[in-house]
Amino acid sequence: MDRQTIEDRMQTFRRRCAEKGLAYTHQRQVIYRALASTNTHPTPEAIYDKVKKQMPSLSLGTIYKNIRTFTEAGLLQEVNLLHESLRLDANLESHHHLVCVECKSVTDLPEQEIRPRGELPAGFEVQRYNVEVLGLCSNCSSKSKTKRSNHG
Ligand SMILES: [Zn+2]
Ligand SMILES: [Zn+2]
Repeated sequence: MDRQTIEDRMQTFRRRCAEKGLAYTHQRQVIYRALASTNTHPTPEAIYDKVKKQMPSLSLGTIYKNIRTFTEAGLLQEVNLLHESLRLDANLESHHHLVCVECKSVTDLPEQEIRPRGELPAGFEVQRYNVEVLGLCSNCSSKSKTKRSNHG
């Protein structure tokens, strides 16, 4: 993650807190910074592990409560990966996800990379596209190739 993106996200966070009448507390800043400084789509537990080093008094329940607040304020997207675990996304631009079925990694794909072709059902008005592409990431696909060649 480049510094500028993180700072831009923190600016947006600060602005939207003011708009929504949310207190811009130190605790919220620490939690949101942990979310904004990664593009790996972490689980709430992973954010907890990261933040607890800075704020040992913080509980997982508080993390969940803040995540809900951020999501409702439009500061965070929840990605329901393969309907198994909740993953968090502070990238607020419209985009798609490349999901690895093996290691469950999630990679952002810009919206313009995938657009619907052909006719949509009459009367359907598109607001945004959000596509989940399932497959194997480069790491896992090279591993499975090695495995295959070892077996002859
Ligand atoms: Zn993978
Ligand atoms: Zn994403």
